Amino acid sequence: MASFGFPVFKTKKAGPKPSVGQGAQKFNLEDPKGRREYFQFKAGKEIKDIRNYLKRGTFVAFMMGKKNSGKGTYTKLFAEQVGFDKVLHLSIGDVVRSAHKEIATSKGRKALTKWLKENFRSFMPPAEAIAAIEGRSTSSLVTTELILALVERTIDAEGKKKAVFVDGFPRGLDQVSYALYFRHIMGYRDDPDFFVFIDVPTSIITARQADRVVCPVCCVPRNYKLLCTKEVGWDAKQKEFYLICDNPACKGARMTRKEGDSLAAKDLKARLLVDEQIMRQLLALDGIPKVCIRNSVPVREAKSKVDEYEITPSYDYSLDKDGEVVVSEFPWTTKDDEGVESYSLLPAAPVLAMVKQIHKVLGL
Ligand SMILES: [Zn+2]
Repeated sequence: MASFGFPVFKTKKAGPKPSVGQGAQKFNLEDPKGRREYFQFKAGKEIKDIRNYLKRGTFVAFMMGKKNSGKGTYTKLFAEQVGFDKVLHLSIGDVVRSAHKEIATSKGRKALTKWLKENFRSFMPPAEAIAAIEGRSTSSLVTTELILALVERTIDAEGKKKAVFVDGFPRGLDQVSYALYFRHIMGYRDDPDFFVFIDVPTSIITARQADRVVCPVCCVPRNYKLLCTKEVGWDAKQKEFYLICDNPACKGARMTRKEGDSLAAKDLKARLLVDEQIMRQLLALDGIPKVCIRNSVPVREAKSKVDEYEITPSYDYSLDKDGEVVVSEFPWTTKDDEGVESYSLLPAAPVLAMVKQIHKVLGL
């Protein structure tokens, strides 16, 4: 796989640092308060303009990135800054899963069947569409038309006054033209639409996947190597360190590696190749604006382009002489798809690049 060659976005800001708040030293980007101060400091004007824009208008953004490239996270951080009530994260996978869940009850099944009868224009009868959603029919699959119908129903339920971030569509080249006319289909006619391309080196995606742990109680994900918790425990019997969930409600639950939810390495690689291929095709499209962000920065460019606290740290654990766990933090480096020694950036930094570019696309 090769990188998309997007330029490194300079997030380092010239001029004095703020004299108060976390920014006096560094912003804590893992914490909502730290992120608010960070975005105010680095993109205060742009955030304000976008907030004002969203009072009167919306837009449609197609989040394009390989599997596990952080599309959902970036959307969430963007919403955190401009207002959760103004942004709809439309994950196509979630839309289909939620329909699947709905029809598990007879009330839900009736409601969806009724809705399909009245709204779904297709050669596929409602009963067949339901079977396709349930995945029990091999002859009928969840077609693009059916996906769009379910998406329309979700947007109607959520209200049309939100900017929409579409995640998971278009999935293949056959869906591209639907995406290009998506805003017309969904009744967002006069609102701007654009693609957001996320470039993440494969090595970062696989590292995130490999050391993923989750809380057995609240299911919050962390990463043993790249995103640790405040408390780390030591299991003397197994001779291993483990992360302890930060959520007080989980009462010190030990986070565990999740088995079976990740694709096998071979399948993941195939999937990443398909994702990459469709991104390359879409990058060649004319007539629709493109926002390009990358979440890695070559080590040699880091000092001039980004601040140290924007770099993803890696964690190492050891025991001191009293048997207490010591966590040490250091910048993590990996090779990007070109083989260049690089740092990975914490999500806030690429989102900053996204905010500034969206500001431009909207002509604010
Ligand atoms: Zn928990």
